[in-house]
Amino acid sequence: MHTMATRHSRRNAPAVPPMPAAAPACADDELRWQAVQRRDKAADGQFYYSVRSTGVYCKPSCAARLALRKNVAFHDSCAAAEAAGFRACKRCKPNQPRLEERQAQAVAQACRLIEQAEAPLALETLADAVGLSRYHFHRLFKAHTGVTPRAYADGQRAERMRSRLPGSASVTEAMYDAGFNSSGRFYEQSGERLGMKPSAYRQGGSGERICFAVAQCWLGALLVAATAKGICAVALGDDPEVLVQELQDRFPKAELVGGDAQFERMLAQVLGFIEAPERGLDLPLDVRGTAFQQRVWQALRSIPPGVTLSYSALAERIGSPAAVRAVASACANNEIALLIPCHRIVRLDGSLSGYRWGVERKQALLEKERVAKP
Ligand SMILES: [Zn+2]
Repeated sequence: MHTMATRHSRRNAPAVPPMPAAAPACADDELRWQAVQRRDKAADGQFYYSVRSTGVYCKPSCAARLALRKNVAFHDSCAAAEAAGFRACKRCKPNQPRLEERQAQAVAQACRLIEQAEAPLALETLADAVGLSRYHFHRLFKAHTGVTPRAYADGQRAERMRSRLPGSASVTEAMYDAGFNSSGRFYEQSGERLGMKPSAYRQGGSGERICFAVAQCWLGALLVAATAKGICAVALGDDPEVLVQELQDRFPKAELVGGDAQFERMLAQVLGFIEAPERGLDLPLDVRGTAFQQRVWQALRSIPPGVTLSYSALAERIGSPAAVRAVASACANNEIALLIPCHRIVRLDGSLSGYRWGVERKQALLEKERVAKP
């Protein structure tokens, strides 16, 4: 997780740039030899070293006995080492992808299998398919995606359900189409997955009651809206009326009601959180999105204040390194400003990309978090 490096900067360190600098360069042979002597894991992948007396080449971190300096040569890639006549060390296996990459690949492969399966797959089947033990697979999957394989599969089915619902003849038919095999199970889950009951969804969200309130904060007007299940929208803007109008457009058939005393307390908690995000917020969110979007948003919530990530680092973190565009689009579709901190995502070069609620607000937020960082 070298992308998290800024988090560990010392208290009095000079201001850090939004993105951490590249890993330490192994610029010359002296530095490379030092890395080998330290068996420096951070140098793995940056270069390889061969040992003339044994004919093998290794990763810098190889645990094998240290060779004599006079027998060691350095190579930029496995191919270069092999072209020079060396074979891969059996111990550190330098020509195999790094462990984290292999794990990310295994999880991504399992996600594809789940997405393509017509019927739910057993944990054992999935673990076997990617060559891991059941226990290890379950743990890895959860670590990479933030959800269990079962929850991911449920989310996928709900997504298919959602895409079929408006045109389907009946909810029951849509349910079978989407691979739910008992209506009890579907109803037990659908409220949670779709954000509302299937019948309400078909009618454009009618019958839903959404409480909202607008407050002023240092970022301008702030609208917070919640269903009985939790916060479903947080928006920022200059004009409170525009914010309310946008909420209405998003939930055209829901009943919008002003917040009561209990809601005011929730609003106060949100305002407190905006002032000091490092203190955390213990309020339920009612997030409405596809399984993929939910994975992205969950990953966003794990980025601490004062830290920024690139879209590609976030894509890697959810185990879908190739899905950078989909990740960017999920960030752009985030309905819950600040609590799902999409403002902590920046371009690879550290520059700010767009922000749904105004790029100046994004800049102000990041600046405040950087200064306040413990
Ligand atoms: Zn080795």
